[in-house]
This record gives sequence, C-alpha cells and structure tokens, in this order.
Amino acid sequence: MTRILVDLDNTLYDLCTPWLYRYNLDYPHHKITYKDILGWDTSQYVAPECGKKIFDYFKYEDVWINGDILDPISIDVTKSWISFGYDVAICTTLSNSISASWKLRWVDHYFPHIKERIVVTGHTKHWIQADFLIDDGPHNHKYFGGISILYDMPWNKDSINLPRAANWSEVNRMVIRGVEQLENGMKYKDIQDKLMYETRELDNIARAMEGIRWTK
Ligand SMILES: [Mg+2]
Repeated sequence: MTRILVDLDNTLYDLCTPWLYRYNLDYPHHKITYKDILGWDTSQYVAPECGKKIFDYFKYEDVWINGDILDPISIDVTKSWISFGYDVAICTTLSNSISASWKLRWVDHYFPHIKERIVVTGHTKHWIQADFLIDDGPHNHKYFGGISILYDMPWNKDSINLPRAANWSEVNRMVIRGVEQLENGMKYKDIQDKLMYETRELDNIARAMEGIRWTK
C-alpha cells in the first residue's frame, strides 16, 4: 500500500497571506510578501524591531483559518490518490498547542476526504514511515526515509538536491511516476534522484527557452 504524507502549511494551506497581513498592518514602513522570505528563519526578513516577534502572530486564530488553498488542484489530486487506494495523511507541525483545532478545522472544510491527520511537534516528521513526503520545509526532508518532494517556495531555493514541485500538477506527476518505479522494484533514493534529475531537465527546457541554463 502506497503511503503519502502531505504537509499542511505552505504546501496545501496559504499560511503567509493571513500571517503577513497581520505583520504588514503593524509594520507598514517595512511591508513584505512571501516572495521576500528567502530562508527558513522568517525573522531575518522582517523589520528589525519585529524580529522574532513575527512568530507571535501564530497565537491568533485568523492566521490559521483565513488562508486559501495554495493550489486548488490539490483537492482533486488527493481525491484521486485515495481513489487509487493510496493511504494519504496530512502531517503538520504545531508551533503552539492552541493552533491545533484551528488548523484541523480548516482541513475539515477543504480536505474532508483526507481522514488521516498526523500532528507533530518539533522536527519529528521523519519519525513516520511513509513512501512519500510532500513538504516545503527542507528540514523535514533531511532524515525522511522515503521519497521526498519539496514544494517550491522562495525560502527553500537553496535545497537543490531534492525533486522540486512548483505546483500540485507537478506533485501529482512525481507521485504517479514514483509509484510506478516503486512497483518496478526501484529503491526510494534512486527514485528520488531520478525525479530530481527529471525536474532539472524540465527546468532546463524552460530556462533554455529563456536563454538561461541551469548552473548548479
Ligand atoms: Mg510547511
């Protein structure tokens, strides 16, 4: 049975819009969008007087429920996986305990077909055994034992050794190809590398059309 873990924040759920909305109201002289966040530590990209206080906004309910779905196709993709008989779970890390019920309420509304939800704290997603992890956080992939798919975001551009999906159509393509290769007896690491090189190849084609080559 194929088992797929799907991250919630910034993979399915647009956390940045409601989060940065609050920040931008408080720091109008130093407004940012998600495109300005170029590393995992968001406090580095906000107004200096805000710094780590950027994470204090996580105690507000609207930050966890007012965001949209990042890519609406993710609904049909995850439904199709379930129809194929795959085990699909949303796997999310809590930044505080009060956010748990808000996050799950959002999941209930948009992804009621995904019945399994795994809530973790700290960096423990890799403790879970699964075939695929789709996640925008490079640290969650670091020790994961299956096939990693990095959901493309400005803060993870430095992670060049993982298959990178720019949207949920690409996530789906990678999972379907990965499952085929698992059925052919390929190992997780080999499949992951193959998906990564294929991503680069597609990226090269796109860049070649713009006269730019992949340089790393
Ligand atoms: Mg995430």
